[in-house]
Amino acid sequence: MLGPGGIIPQPEGYLERAVRAARKHGVLVIFDEVAVGMGRLGTLFAFEQLHAGRGARRKARLKPDMVCLAKGLTAGLLPLSAVLVADHVYQAFLGSCAPRQGCRGTRTFFHGHTFTGSALGCAAALAAVEQIASRSFLRRLRTATIPAFWRALEPLRAHPHVGSLRGRGLMAGIELVKDEQRGEEYPWAERYGHRVVLAARARGVNTRAIGNLVLAVPPLTITRRELALLGRVLYASIEEATK
Ligand SMILES: *Cc1c(COP(=O)(O)O)cnc(C)c1O
Repeated sequence: MLGPGGIIPQPEGYLERAVRAARKHGVLVIFDEVAVGMGRLGTLFAFEQLHAGRGARRKARLKPDMVCLAKGLTAGLLPLSAVLVADHVYQAFLGSCAPRQGCRGTRTFFHGHTFTGSALGCAAALAAVEQIASRSFLRRLRTATIPAFWRALEPLRAHPHVGSLRGRGLMAGIELVKDEQRGEEYPWAERYGHRVVLAARARGVNTRAIGNLVLAVPPLTITRRELALLGRVLYASIEEATK
């Protein structure tokens, strides 16, 4: 799913076709799960959703070669990101430093960051992984939290100034429109999304907008009561900002 670029889920079957096409042409498959990994879509990794109902062989073929993670590793409270790689990619970085035939001098892949491997960030990420990867946590996300999230947002669809309500898992985009029937948008410069954010903040809900798209991306630990509040506040804030 495209994140801040518009909260746009890929069409059904698109990812499978993209992965197959890459495999066919020997291209590495990289899943950027910075936004959607770590349980955000109801599975630890978003790519696992390609595997639903498939046999072991097809699952293996639909596995990425690399997965990028960040935000959910530490909830953004500490700076940490990670790139997970398949064994064949990892192996490609290994080797001897000894010169080989046709290759003189030092043989080392010189690459490093000053702030790599923050111990505090890693400790936080390990704690988060332990929690999020647990079966019971993921089951609760899928069977309770995510359905309750979409139920809480559902009334927004009927609002005259809500064009589309879209997303997956715990990630929704609410598109504000001036006139849905006539396909008329609010002028970007009038910052209707930001007006909704300010109205919501005054009601105790902190969210964010990108132009006329209001985002709802709550923490995975959000409670039922907080979800109900989120739905109510967003409706009231859109009402206030657009009236
Ligand atoms: C947030 C985000 C990034 C950027 O991460 P930074 O740490 O801000 O560089 C990259 N990809 C996706 C999908 C993101 O959501």
